[in-house]
Amino acid sequence: MSQLPTISHWIDGRSTSGGQRLQEVFNPATGKAEKQVLLADKATVEQAIASAQAAYPAWRATPPLKRARVMSNLKVLLEQHAEELCALVTAEHGKVLADALGELQRGIENVEYASYAPELLKGEHSKNVGPAIDSWSEFQALGVTAGITPFNFPVMVPLWMWPMAVACGNTFVLKPSERDPSSALRVAELALQAGLPPGVLNVVQGDKESVDTLLTDPRVKAVSFVGSTPIAEYVYATGCAAGKRVQALGGAKNHAVVMPDADVANAVSAMMGAAFGSCGERCMAVPLIVAVGDTTADAMIAGLKAEIARMKVGPGTDPANDMGPLVTRPHFEKVRAYVDRGVAEGATLLVDGRGVKVPGHEEGYFLGPCLFDHVKPGMTIYQEEIFGPVLGIVRVQTLQQAMDLINTHEYGNGTCIFTRDGEAARYFTDNILVGMVGVNVPLPVPVAYHSFGGWKRSLFGDLHAYGPDAVRFYTKRKTITQRWPSAGVREGAVFSFPSNR
Ligand code: NAD
Repeated sequence: MSQLPTISHWIDGRSTSGGQRLQEVFNPATGKAEKQVLLADKATVEQAIASAQAAYPAWRATPPLKRARVMSNLKVLLEQHAEELCALVTAEHGKVLADALGELQRGIENVEYASYAPELLKGEHSKNVGPAIDSWSEFQALGVTAGITPFNFPVMVPLWMWPMAVACGNTFVLKPSERDPSSALRVAELALQAGLPPGVLNVVQGDKESVDTLLTDPRVKAVSFVGSTPIAEYVYATGCAAGKRVQALGGAKNHAVVMPDADVANAVSAMMGAAFGSCGERCMAVPLIVAVGDTTADAMIAGLKAEIARMKVGPGTDPANDMGPLVTRPHFEKVRAYVDRGVAEGATLLVDGRGVKVPGHEEGYFLGPCLFDHVKPGMTIYQEEIFGPVLGIVRVQTLQQAMDLINTHEYGNGTCIFTRDGEAARYFTDNILVGMVGVNVPLPVPVAYHSFGGWKRSLFGDLHAYGPDAVRFYTKRKTITQRWPSAGVREGAVFSFPSNR
């Protein structure tokens, strides 16, 4: 293990070692450990927090426009280094390069939005709220903030968090996923180059020990988390108990309703990307189709089988491939076991990706696309998040039955409806208990100037990620009421509650 290149932390604007534990980082396409990552101990995380704390007063006092200019510079640097960053993502996550570029672009849009922070931080002002009294609200930074991110968007999800946090005047400690830690680290180096002062952004590599330190250290005022629901719930409870502001985005099981009047060809091609893009490792992936009517289900199946037959599975570095490997061997085994379970529980496996072989990459974590019919609500493959290239069809007879399924599912991240009927679409968007909804749009991921978040057990906390909600999450409102009495005017004491009576 010691021969492998080591990925370390980024503290105070430089690469820093810290912690004794090392974990291998695998290339999922080859199954080989190509790097190792240091796992921070408590003292290393505390060092990062101390760096962020020390950088805070000067950064908070920096005019917002100057902070915003760093974001503008960073946007340019990210564009210039796109190829390098995407290569890092593909080498550690496995996704195809075009998909890595897509996530980087979405991340850059968040940096771009953060560069509007001076406009977004403008407060509210009211003149003459009383005689010669003016009042205003302003939005002040919190101090040291932190982010904990998942493996599946290693470059984008960190960019959902820290650019807006620092543009609002906070400093930040980021803990990326230990499974694909390099791209977030490289972005931190580019941020220094863009003009971000040392200490404003720190990156600690690590696992539970790092997370627990961030959740309990009193210097950390707010924590953003994105990952699986059990950990999101833990992070929310632990962080809140320690008096922090917490937003914790969790897992998903997104359903696509296909109505009898839908444009089936469009729905099929939309579903191919939604189910199998990034090997299904997206929280907005759509692993379930709820087909209204058997004719709809049969038409979708015919179209999907034809498209699946054309799909190319292989290393993400080859632009000919549509789908790369799963992220790690344990995850690969877990997803394959879900397929076994689906068969055992009685769903009909129409396309079986378990036997897929990629010549020259026999040790890679490749699973071909899988398609199930007759998935039923009681089945494990219906209830649980699989996070792999496994698409199931549930057959119902009415839109209301489809919506009842979605509304009673524990997750409520994303959903969509394919239809030509405006009335049905309007009823669906109005009454569905899900945070992000698409109409003929399979992955309704909000753009950077809206906010991202699910309902039910897909999000713990009140504010969604990025966009306008992030400005509120990373700031505290302060309301000031000010009076400058005219010279010589003296009033007696008033004991009733002040009002404009
Ligand atoms: P994960 O929950 O395993 O890990 C997320 C982060 O938590 C990582 O940084 C990890 O190091 C840390 N962590 C893991 N175990 C921990 C523990 N016991 N205590 C403290 N910290 C711990 O998630 P993942 O496998 O990296 O990512 C996939 C999951 O993330 C899926 O469930 C997916 O739906 C979800 N996700 C959600 C969204 C969203 O916006 N809702 C976006 C992307 C991914």
